[in-house]
Amino acid sequence: DFDYRSEQLTSDQEIDKVLRPKAFSDFTGQQKILENLEIFVEATKKRGEPLDHVLLHGPPGLGKTTLANIIANELGVGFKVTSGPVLDKPGDLAGLLTNLEEGDVLFIDEIHRLSPVIEEYLYSAMEDYVIDIMIDSGPNARTVQIALNPFTLIGATTRSGLLTAPLRARFGISSRLQYYNAKTLTLIVERSCDLLGIPVNHEAAYEIASRSRGTPRIANALLRRVRDFAQIKGSGTIDLKITDYALEALNVDKNGLDEMDNRILSTLIDKFNGGPVGITTLATAVGENAGTLEEVYEPFLIQEGYLVRTQRGRKVTELAYTHLGKDLGWSQGG
Ligand code: ADP
Repeated sequence: DFDYRSEQLTSDQEIDKVLRPKAFSDFTGQQKILENLEIFVEATKKRGEPLDHVLLHGPPGLGKTTLANIIANELGVGFKVTSGPVLDKPGDLAGLLTNLEEGDVLFIDEIHRLSPVIEEYLYSAMEDYVIDIMIDSGPNARTVQIALNPFTLIGATTRSGLLTAPLRARFGISSRLQYYNAKTLTLIVERSCDLLGIPVNHEAAYEIASRSRGTPRIANALLRRVRDFAQIKGSGTIDLKITDYALEALNVDKNGLDEMDNRILSTLIDKFNGGPVGITTLATAVGENAGTLEEVYEPFLIQEGYLVRTQRGRKVTELAYTHLGKDLGWSQGG
């Protein structure tokens, strides 16, 4: 039987492959980080040494995996991928590490979710390119030290606050990715349209960009759905009219806030009179983890001017009231 959804998924994945930047020159935005990484990569190549370990942090969808991939490409080395939650047995890690070739990049996504045991193993691997493995058990148990090829670990995390100090200290390079402004995201949307051969006009690209929560992954995802609308309901060209229609139909907030963003703001207004309220109390009220609120949601809401951090907690701004169409009320008057 024809499964529409899995068909859609494959094609989305294929599109993703086409759109993912492969070289520094394809990557738009994050200029400062890019400039630095380019220098480090260049210097490393000149010296013929492996690149220092790199930690990339920042909210999801901003390009951490993409950058890790680019670094490996630019270094001309192999790229192996795993993630914190997947790596739960020391044997798995040992297998991965011993298979690395000289200079390879090992990418560990969600590195804040490594178990302490695995983290312990990583220390010596990162520092001296060796691991101690326990063989046998009971009275015959002994550890054997295995030498690894020099490699580069690239760790990605949305929750840098959860990284232990010893792990953090082992990264020679650490970069924090920022949300993209609408102008930069517009360039990304236009690049994607170019690669996919979709006709788009500038205002439409800007509209998609400004409703994408500062996030390339969201911009590309919205673009794919708007394209569907343009092909079925419109002329095939993505213009402002079909973009507005599609985004409305998809329930995309006019300012690009997602459901949780809006829940945070409306909870603050409805239950806490706009704040200030402590992060833990707020987290419980919206049913999200406090750390995730702090590192995934809050930065965008603060950057866009909906929320402020005060000594006594989080507070919404007037903009949040206007955005949600809520009355400012007496409490904000004085
Ligand atoms: P993260 O690892 O931070 O969650 P990804 O690297 O997976 O994010 O990026 C999400 C998607 O957004 C990728 O499919 C990639 O194509 C796209 N993307 C991310 N950053 C950029 C960029 N700077 N320019 C163009 N596309 C980007």
